Amino acid sequence: MDLGLKGKKAIVCAASKGLGRACAMSLAREGVDVVITARTAADLERTAAEIRKETGVKVTPVAGDITTDAGRAAALAACPAPDILINNAGGPPRGDFRDWGRDDWIKAIDANMLTPILLIKAVVDGMIERKFGRIVNITSASVKSPIPELGMSNGARAGLTGFVAGTARQIARHNVIINNILPGPFLTDRLRSGFAEAARASNRPVDELVQERMKSNPAGRVGDPAEFGDACAFLCSAKIGFIVGQNLLLDGGAFNSSST
Ligand code: NAP
Repeated sequence: MDLGLKGKKAIVCAASKGLGRACAMSLAREGVDVVITARTAADLERTAAEIRKETGVKVTPVAGDITTDAGRAAALAACPAPDILINNAGGPPRGDFRDWGRDDWIKAIDANMLTPILLIKAVVDGMIERKFGRIVNITSASVKSPIPELGMSNGARAGLTGFVAGTARQIARHNVIINNILPGPFLTDRLRSGFAEAARASNRPVDELVQERMKSNPAGRVGDPAEFGDACAFLCSAKIGFIVGQNLLLDGGAFNSSST
């Protein structure tokens, strides 16, 4: 299927590694020019070179913290009229909610709720004018099945999900479509560090924990970031204009529900 994306322009946030990188690569394979962001310039430049080499599209790395006004302004300056916006940022730390103060919460809400909302606000009217826009927010399986020790992630992402549910329905008639993708376990640096932390806490080998997690998943494995990227590119395609405000769970079937 031709996704109808050749020549489009995308901003992919937090994309030097992991799920963001995979989304940028999949979009680039469809002929989309991408602006990619991350804080660590060297990693970002390396990823930009890899995507360019494999796909031949225009890849513009913009180093900066996407959770700051300056970081968002730099990304938007590099691509003032995007057809596609992929919202992503690092996730908040695990822990006990008794240890988190106001500043910790503001940081989490900034990264995983307000940053995507402010970027949506910045691009959406241009998309409406041009009668095409695709916005995908990378959230988490925790939106459907909250993870107790990730309380700040559960809270901030629930706020974004509520905002998107209303806003997506206000703008869909202009062919500007917002959806969320909810990752379960995908083998990225973040998941690896989660396994390493759990291994230290339980004094068990990392490999054993990974095997255990794979066995307990209905698909018998963890996710490959590349398949996440492909799902994201599909949700950005010209053909999905009737898929509006959805929360697409990619978790190998781990969340058991007859209606999801
Ligand atoms: P990852 O492998 O650690 O990659 C994170 C990427 O985001 C890196 O490129 C990082 O580069 C960039 N980044 C982080 N904070 C940033 C910021 N403030 N501004 C700009 N770039 C930033 O993480 P991932 O696994 O892809 O996770 C992506 C998101 O999905 C996270 O919110 C995570 O919580 C969520 N998630 C992941 C999984 C999973 O299994 N992987 C499951 C559920 C939810 P720099 O550090 O250089 O900025």
